[in-house]
Amino acid sequence: MRPVLALPELNPVPLTPGTLYLVATPIGNMEDITLRAIRTLRDCDLVAAEDTRHTGILLKRLRLAKRQVSTHKFNEAKRAGEIISMLEQGGTVALVSDAGSPGISDPGQRVVEAVLAAGQRVEPVPGACALIAALTASGLPTDEFHFCGFLPVKSGQRAKRLAKLLDLPGTLAMYESPYRITKLLGELAELAPAREVVLARELTKKFEQIQRGTAMELLERYGEKKPKGEFVVLVGQALGSAGKQSADEMN
Ligand code: SAM
Repeated sequence: MRPVLALPELNPVPLTPGTLYLVATPIGNMEDITLRAIRTLRDCDLVAAEDTRHTGILLKRLRLAKRQVSTHKFNEAKRAGEIISMLEQGGTVALVSDAGSPGISDPGQRVVEAVLAAGQRVEPVPGACALIAALTASGLPTDEFHFCGFLPVKSGQRAKRLAKLLDLPGTLAMYESPYRITKLLGELAELAPAREVVLARELTKKFEQIQRGTAMELLERYGEKKPKGEFVVLVGQALGSAGKQSADEMN
């Protein structure tokens, strides 16, 4: 089977034997896959996928028939051993998650650590990442930011962690489930009522929406409506806070 796209020969470089490739995939819009990602998926010996059914759909759309193994958070350590043996024999492995950049709130980091510890090569094939897409479109400072992935779900741990994170200088960025978005806005309204909040929803998809306001203003917009879709939440730095001062001092 040949790929659906005849890949333009912009800068084709053959895969390096014994390399683990970290391949970013789209976060919604299928056109966000890079030529290099397609080429890497096409030419690698094995695809290590967070969910082989999910990646199977992507591979099918690209008309690629590939051997896949599942590599998710429950088997990452075990799978790392198998990936290392393959690399030691000169094989090439493409690691992908369900969407976006592997290792960013997704499986990948443990495999990378193990592969590096075994003295094998790791190479990124960069592309879509919800964090970076949201941050760059937010209008909030991009020169310093802190990303914390998902906050803990348990209320006590969550409140403590959020309060600590809000003390940091720069923009605060996090992922949150639609089920907890209004809870998070409520927490931010209490802990950081004056700070600008940006909700980046369904990025790169048909109903993409980027909303800006204070946490209370955004909460009021939702009213009784249940938030739907995928969200990145960004919080602007506190004006006049220690964080803001230290950012200014550094400039
Ligand atoms: N590895 C992915 C990346 O590079 O962005 C993130 C995976 S993480 C399991 C999934 C979370 O990322 C979602 O719950 C949401 O917070 C965020 N996300 C992923 N796709 C998104 C999109 N299209 N729009 C907004 N947020 C998105």
